[in-house]
Amino acid sequence: MLRPFTLHRPATADEACALLARLEDAAPYAGGTELLLLMKLGWLRPRHLVDVKRIRELGDLTGGPRLAIGATVTHRALERSALVRAHCPLVASVARHVANVRVRNVGTVGGNLAFADPHSDLATLFLTLDATVALVSPRGRRELPLADFVRGPWETARASDELLALVRLTPWPAGTAAAYVKFGVHERPTLGIAVALQLDGAGPGGARSSGGSVRVADARVAIGCVSPRPARAPAAEACLVGVTIAELEDVAGAAAESATATVDPADDLYGSADYKREMVAVFVRRALRIAAARARGAESAARFPHAVVA
Ligand SMILES: Cc1cc2nc3c(=O)[nH]c(=O)nc-3n(C[C@H](O)[C@H](O)[C@H](O)COP(=O)(O)OP(=O)(O)OC[C@H]3O[C@@H](n4cnc5c(N)ncnc54)[C@H](O)[C@@H]3O)c2cc1C
Repeated sequence: MLRPFTLHRPATADEACALLARLEDAAPYAGGTELLLLMKLGWLRPRHLVDVKRIRELGDLTGGPRLAIGATVTHRALERSALVRAHCPLVASVARHVANVRVRNVGTVGGNLAFADPHSDLATLFLTLDATVALVSPRGRRELPLADFVRGPWETARASDELLALVRLTPWPAGTAAAYVKFGVHERPTLGIAVALQLDGAGPGGARSSGGSVRVADARVAIGCVSPRPARAPAAEACLVGVTIAELEDVAGAAAESATATVDPADDLYGSADYKREMVAVFVRRALRIAAARARGAESAARFPHAVVA
């Protein structure tokens, strides 16, 4: 049962931050998909909820060199936004596969990142898009890389009077071949792998239109859900840079092994640490195969049980 609390409904971010600074035992409240669940279980007992959903400035989605996603933008809005599909199409596809439609309709991007559940698809994918988050408080505004914001399971760099205002993403250059593969048998994913291959000299039709000479100029591999927080795998990325699309299959095994060496899994209800390491190796290879097929202008026909390909 929910313990009594006071609901505050500020109209601006400044007002919200002032409330968070002044009130003892207050928490920001957006879609409530995590917060209300924990409150019903009695694991969290804030005496004040500061509703951020009515704050206009937190709901904006704007383009430009970087895509800015306001904290209260819902998964559903992300999935349907023409701007997101134009700048970062994989973000819209991944949003379509978050949770279920009920959670997607009210759950927000800011709530997802601020909650810092290790099983976050967005936090994993956003690492490959050089994400930064903007935090506002009575002391002003600061912007920091998402990789520094998420410190560990359910732990962030946010101070208690700070609000997450927005996340900024740097879209990949045209011709980047990417894939996000998530696997799971529970409500939340057991594993999420994001791969982005920036191609040197690819034409608009991908590598196929440019002959076999297209090489990977830059590579991003991010792994989520299995470690205390999502992280890039630089050693795996290094295996991929400089190889041609045709050679990707040859180096995929080495990249997958390198990726496995970077994770720090624990035994839990999602599986044993050894199982998770093995799944990382398998799914990094699969994600690379899908990205390579997309680089050739094709879609991989492979289908994997309990896995979603975005
Ligand atoms: C059944 C289920 C399945 C799910 N499956 C997936 C999945 O497949 N992939 C995935 O990525 N996620 C998944 N999720 C997580 C889901 O994405 C989040 O629950 C949702 O995005 C949280 O947003 P919210 O607005 O509801 O946050 P809330 O519950 O309102 O808040 C969550 C936390 O963030 C804080 N907070 C909220 N907004 C702000 C802000 N602007 N500034 C600072 N702090 C803030 C709150 O104080 C609270 O601590 C799942 C959740 C559920 C319940």
